[in-house]
Amino acid sequence: MSGVPIYPPADTTTHRTLVTGGAGFVGSHLVEHLLALGDEVVVLDDLSTGSARNLAGAAENPRLQMMDGSILNTKTVGQAMESCDRVFHLAAAVGVKLIVEQPLRGLRINIHGTENVLTAAIERQASVLLVSTSEVYGKNTADRLREDSDRILGDPLLSRWTYAGAKGIDEAFAKAYCDQEGLDVAIVRLFNTVGPRQTGRYGMVFPNLVGQALRGHPLTVFGDGKQTRCFSAVEDVVPAMVRIERDPRARGQAYNLGGAREISILDLAREIIRTLDSRSDIELIPYDQAYAPGFEDMRRRVPDNSKANALVGYEPQTSLTTTILRVAADLLARERLSSDAMPLVGTGALRGVL
Ligand code: UDP
Repeated sequence: MSGVPIYPPADTTTHRTLVTGGAGFVGSHLVEHLLALGDEVVVLDDLSTGSARNLAGAAENPRLQMMDGSILNTKTVGQAMESCDRVFHLAAAVGVKLIVEQPLRGLRINIHGTENVLTAAIERQASVLLVSTSEVYGKNTADRLREDSDRILGDPLLSRWTYAGAKGIDEAFAKAYCDQEGLDVAIVRLFNTVGPRQTGRYGMVFPNLVGQALRGHPLTVFGDGKQTRCFSAVEDVVPAMVRIERDPRARGQAYNLGGAREISILDLAREIIRTLDSRSDIELIPYDQAYAPGFEDMRRRVPDNSKANALVGYEPQTSLTTTILRVAADLLARERLSSDAMPLVGTGALRGVL
């Protein structure tokens, strides 16, 4: 993983840890972090949105075991969890674009798949970190979203809301299994986590816009671009996830893990263009064209990170500029985009990170 973990390891105990979705963007960074802490790691991933390439840097590690399979298959989940004492559950259908296009798949994976993982963990007395999302807060535009803030969701018949609905059910399942069957589980809600290896293929704005800026294409900003987000760097979030999982006070609790700086998508586009010295323009695209008619976006999403800060000292450290440069360097390396392929892009800013 790029960057330096912000916290020392919480303890020196090593574990045999299952990471579902470990070949995904956040999952692969987590796997590298756990291996660095000395864990044996089993990855269960169906490689639908994740990729074995994400784990290329760890592939030779004898403490890493890869399993290609789905969390919808209870037998596979049981096998993957064999002799594991903890599980980080990240496998999910993610990305607004994917959810809008394939709501049924999203519902099945995010609800049935998660319940399979939780019940297998109970059988094996493994602890669980359930990775959830800020989407659960829906359209709540509060100044700072606390973990107990109200959820404001739209019409359940709009596929956009099925992700928030399913993840809310996942959290409720986790809490109920904790209270009624003694499952040792904690929950984290990630807010627009970004960094190297995230793909723009499923609609995520950050890699999309950085890729467009590198190619000299217009940056596609949806709606009026005044909607805001707080982007958090994966290298800040991953060590905090591990510390929360280890902390007994986190049992049955949820923790926001988000960025510190609120920025509009239009300003993000401008900052990407400036940082990468790109000659791209910005193009405003109406939501109806970007998604489907009737699509509802979140106008604002700002976390209150104080609960995770009080528990494990979580404090976002990585600047947006650094993340833009890291994501750009990663895209260039992964897609083998040479400066010949991108004649319009000034690469001066990237020299330091390539
Ligand atoms: N967005 C955008 N251009 C894109 C992709 C997304 O303007 O190419 C917008 C999207 O409408 C939303 C914000 O960027 O307002 C963040 O989108 P993303 O899908 O990354 O995350 P989420 O909507 O879950 O916060």
